[in-house]
Parts: sequence; C-alpha cells; structure tokens
Amino acid sequence: MKKEDTCGPIWVFAEQEEGRIQDISLQLIGKARALANELNTTLEVILLGDRIKDQVQPLFAAGTDRVYLGDAPTLSWYQPEIYTEIIVSLADEKKPEIVLIGSTHAGRELAPMVAARLKTGLTAHCIDLTINENRILEQWIPAYGGLISITCPKNRPQMATVARGVFPRPHMDESRQGEVVLLEVPAEFEGRIQTLQVVRRKQETVPLESAAIVIAGGAGAGNEEGWRQIADLAQTLHAALGCTRPVVDEGWTGHETMIGQSGKMVSPELYIGIGLSGELQHLIGVVNAKVMVAVNKDARAPVFEQVDYGIVEDCRTFVPLLIEKINAYRSRRKGA
Ligand SMILES: Cc1cc2nc3c(=O)[nH]c(=O)nc-3n(C[C@H](O)[C@H](O)[C@H](O)COP(=O)(O)OP(=O)(O)OC[C@H]3O[C@@H](n4cnc5c(N)ncnc54)[C@H](O)[C@@H]3O)c2cc1C
Repeated sequence: MKKEDTCGPIWVFAEQEEGRIQDISLQLIGKARALANELNTTLEVILLGDRIKDQVQPLFAAGTDRVYLGDAPTLSWYQPEIYTEIIVSLADEKKPEIVLIGSTHAGRELAPMVAARLKTGLTAHCIDLTINENRILEQWIPAYGGLISITCPKNRPQMATVARGVFPRPHMDESRQGEVVLLEVPAEFEGRIQTLQVVRRKQETVPLESAAIVIAGGAGAGNEEGWRQIADLAQTLHAALGCTRPVVDEGWTGHETMIGQSGKMVSPELYIGIGLSGELQHLIGVVNAKVMVAVNKDARAPVFEQVDYGIVEDCRTFVPLLIEKINAYRSRRKGA
C-alpha cells in the first residue's frame, strides 16, 4: 500500500432534528465524498438520535460508506456533553483524518468541544474545502478583503464547520449501500447540561433561506428607527429580512437574521442591501442571488462594485419614500 493510501477516514457529523436528517448534513456528505475520493479514503458518518435507523439510507445515497449509529432515547435531542463524549471516544479509536460539522446552533457548540478534547484545530464557517498537493485540507474563509485558506498540518483530525447552503445537495443514488456500526450508548447519562424542552420560535417573517426577495439592512440604518424602516420595506415587498453583523451587535434584531460567513446563506431572485458596505463576510452569503441592488449614501462604497444596480441615497429618506411609492402604486392598481 502506498503511503498516501493510508490516511484515516473522513467523518461527517450528521445532524437530525426530530428524527429527520438535516439538509446541511447531506450537503456536507456530498463535499466529503469528493474529498474522500481525492484522498482515496472512506467516508464515515456519525448519526446520533432516537429511533432513527430509517434515516441511515439517505446517508448512503448521498455518498457515505459507513454509518456509526447511536440510537437510544438518551440521544433523542442534542446533548452537548454526551454527543461530545461519543464522538471523542470514537475518534480516539478510529483516528479520522478530517471531521466536518455543520455551522448550526448545535454544530457551533459541538465542534469546538470536540476539537478541544481532541487537542486539534478547528476552522469555523468555511466557505470551501480543498485538498492541497501535500494532501492537507485547505479550509477557506473570507478574510483581509479576500479568501484565505487555513490548514492544520500536524494535529489530527483536521476539523471544520460549514454553514447550510455553502455546498449543494448531492445527487442521491438510492441504490447505494453501506455498513452500519451500532454504537453502545449509556442508558442513563447524568450530564451537567440536559435538553428539558424544545420551544419553537414562531416564524414571523418570510424564511430567509427560501425567500424570493431578501432585503438586508446594515449599520447605515443608524438606529433602531432606521432599522424598523428597513423591516417595514421588507414587509411591504413580502420579502425576507436579513442584516449584517453590526445590526445584530446593536441588538436591533437577532443573530438568526444575519447573512454571511457566520450567518445564513440565501439565494433569492432579488437581493437589496441597504446601508451596508459590502464586506466579503456578508456578501459571501448572497453569492447565489440572481439580481443584486445596493442602496448606500456613499457613491464610493465597495458594495457598488459587487451589485447589478446601485442607488446612491440616504436610506433614512429613501426607504420611507420607496414604501410610500409602492403603496401609492398598489392603491392606483386596485382603483383602476
Ligand atoms: C470572522 C468574521 C466573520 C464575520 N461574519 C459576518 C457575517 O456572517 N455577516 C456579516 O454581515 N458580517 C460578518 N462579519 C463582519 C463584516 O466583516 C463587516 O464588519 C460587516 O459585514 C459590516 O457591516 P455593515 O456593512 O452593515 O457596516 P459598515 O461596514 O460599517 O458599513 C455601513 C455602510 O452604510 C453606509 N451608510 C451609512 N449611513 C448611511 C445612510 N444613512 N444611508 C445609506 N447608507 C449609509 C456607509 O456608507 C457604509 O458603507 C464578520 C467578520 C469577521 C471577522
């Protein structure tokens, strides 16, 4: 066997919610399959949950060779400590080369816990993954106004998180089969952190990920009132409302509204960015938008180089005026 044939498997942590595999996991498996082919190694997936045996087949169809299945009532909901414990002890035994985890609420917590226990590095919110000439994983993130790659040349596994929507859903080959390895799970687990109840937040606006129109507001909104105007415009256009990081930092809206490298990926027909500068960390989240428009009071704002249409205006006057015009147009149409 050649030296390059001997690397450990690639792992994907498959996230399930209420017994259903999440899209992000299939997207990661699709990418991991390509990486595994390049490294000439196997692709293995860890699936933890309760009564989830029937969820194994989609993992094989997406490209997995082997599934480590922890199927027990204790694992029904994500529990950080027991999930970490299971992954770490299995990694100690199986020595994976690469571990990929989704940048979801759970994944953002689980990945650093696992990396710390395995004494290895972790690159969060990658927007691409490639293998270099030394067979090392290059973990690409936006930084310093461009893209940079981070590597973990010595410690293993090489670990990365990736957001939903960065990689496409893979072709599903339903005839594909693989091996299932059942994991032993403690019947009782007295962790310090337990999920007692899951309360779903009511979705009040159009979901960002599936919206045809996305309006994103930035720091240029100025204050809560300016932000509210942008939110009103989104409502008027039946659009989903997104934002940049400063808007979250100011507390005008929640983190779930943020678009970009460490937020959500969107792919609308129309994206309108208002009062934002066009930093790559934000715009990376809208690369799949069909038509892009920016509103900024500074004609030299970098965002204008990235969009199809630019409007040089102060959003505090432009946004209310646009809402007024849209409403007037609709009234005229109704009256006609
Ligand atoms: C590791 C890392 C991850 C990150 N991840 C993300 C991410 O996922 N998403 C994200 O958004 N950011 C992210 N960031 C932050 C990102 O780098 C930028 O700081 C952020 O996107 C800038 O937000 P902004 O454009 O709203 O603010 P600014 O850069 O401050 O731009 C404000 C813009 O508003 C304009 N403006 C001001 N007043 C008005 C007005 N009255 N009318 C019209 N225009 C006006 C200004 O001309 C300016 O162009 C990340 C950063 C790091 C380091």
